[in-house]
Amino acid sequence: MNYRSTRGGSPAVTGAQAIVSGIAPDGGLYLPESFPTLSRSEQEALANLDYAGRALEILSRFLPELPIGELENGVNQGYDPSRWSSPRIVPLVPLTDGLSVMELWHGPTFAFKDLALQVLPHLLLSSLRATGDEREVVILVATSGDTGKAALEGFRDIPGTRIMVFYPLEGVSRIQALQMLTQEGANTSVVGVHGNFDDAQTGVKKIFTDPRWIETLDARRMTFSSANSINWGRLAPQIAYYFSTYFDLAQAGTIGWGDAVNFVVPTGNFGNILAGYIAKTMGLPVNRLICASNRNRILTDLLRTGTYDRNREFFTTSSPSMDILISSNLERLLYLLAEGDAGLIQKLMGSLQTKGAYTLDKTMQGRLNDVFWGGWADDRETTSEIQQTFQERNYLVDTHTAVGLKVYRDYQAATGDTCHTVVTSTANPFKFNQAVAQAVLTPETIQGKNEFELLQSVSTLTGCRVPEGLMSLEHRPILHSKAVRPEDMSATVAEWLKVKEN
Ligand SMILES: *Cc1c(COP(=O)(O)O)cnc(C)c1O
Repeated sequence: MNYRSTRGGSPAVTGAQAIVSGIAPDGGLYLPESFPTLSRSEQEALANLDYAGRALEILSRFLPELPIGELENGVNQGYDPSRWSSPRIVPLVPLTDGLSVMELWHGPTFAFKDLALQVLPHLLLSSLRATGDEREVVILVATSGDTGKAALEGFRDIPGTRIMVFYPLEGVSRIQALQMLTQEGANTSVVGVHGNFDDAQTGVKKIFTDPRWIETLDARRMTFSSANSINWGRLAPQIAYYFSTYFDLAQAGTIGWGDAVNFVVPTGNFGNILAGYIAKTMGLPVNRLICASNRNRILTDLLRTGTYDRNREFFTTSSPSMDILISSNLERLLYLLAEGDAGLIQKLMGSLQTKGAYTLDKTMQGRLNDVFWGGWADDRETTSEIQQTFQERNYLVDTHTAVGLKVYRDYQAATGDTCHTVVTSTANPFKFNQAVAQAVLTPETIQGKNEFELLQSVSTLTGCRVPEGLMSLEHRPILHSKAVRPEDMSATVAEWLKVKEN
């Protein structure tokens, strides 16, 4: 299967090559030339498999050049139920008659990134073998908090790889920071950046596409790759849970086969929701994709006005994994909506680079609004949504999921749509415990308690168990303490790899 860059300036590659390189040499993102489709009867047959089996069927259609045995091994290891807190991997929880929640956070690092990052290392190694590439892979990651930890867990001590993660020093929750700073593994490194996620992401992209860096690595038989959602190997596994959840709904009789459903997706870099869009393109009956943002509402504004404008204040919120003003994967969506018009994407991305903004024409805006609906919630609304959901449904959600629930409320009020709707729950509530505690505990209960005492208090109140992997963070040694300015990221990588900086 051929993959092309969204900017049209690089040759077509195989899926394996796309996964090895991460980003295209012209700065664009890889997408398959066409999407495989799954008929209703194929979908009904797939529903009889377990999660790993369903994922294998989807993945193998996108990566036909990888040996099926290796793919199978990858999903079986990645979705090994003994490493997940639910044997179903992605369990579905009915909340009301018209609303269900798909819990994407039962993996080893407690956020939805595990769905992709438990499998990506296998895809990458298999892709290297398929392309006859024997270079060592250097993974650079920019994280808004959750990708970093999930990637570190996925790649730790995997032979032939090393991984360096950059995270915004002021932009992650205390628990997220501790998860990364206590990371073990001889091939791992974690570096704080004085800046926000966009600074970290821009820095990493710059290093990836710098011809001098590429040359330096090549000479040392190394190559960069990405574990961010710019890498196709990150996106492809995410498509599977949209199908899987639909199958579960149909098997439970909540919907009939063929009925359309909505998905509400708390969105930052646009990777999760794009996977939903691809599932729709492949034949999954999806009505609307509802894009939920926090106060960094750049995507809501795009959906409502047709203009993407990053010349605005950046806010640090209680849902830090969505504190993003440059949504990388939006570029892929625009390319698909433009039916592969790479010239248009070049123009839009050029405008984003030089002016920090672009405006879609009426056709593009119309196509966007046919499928997507956007809304946002501020921190106060997020807190009250956590509170209300807990009081009314006895169900505890994290801040990101709460943003989704609030935006769904607004969507229903605005449209009256009665389609069954699934909210994607992207993190375990304890991962964002400070904010969750403030929503469900009284100020007196919170006062004077440290992070770990608060975990206990929330657990006692709600009857939800704190995952051992979070509770144990209190006593783990800090193994990484480096912090740099964005302009020093390149030098930091050079020092780590023991090469001379260009
Ligand atoms: C990464 C993340 C998001 C945003 O997902 P994107 O694919 O970047 O849009 C939302 N919630 C949580 C908890 C996350 O970790």
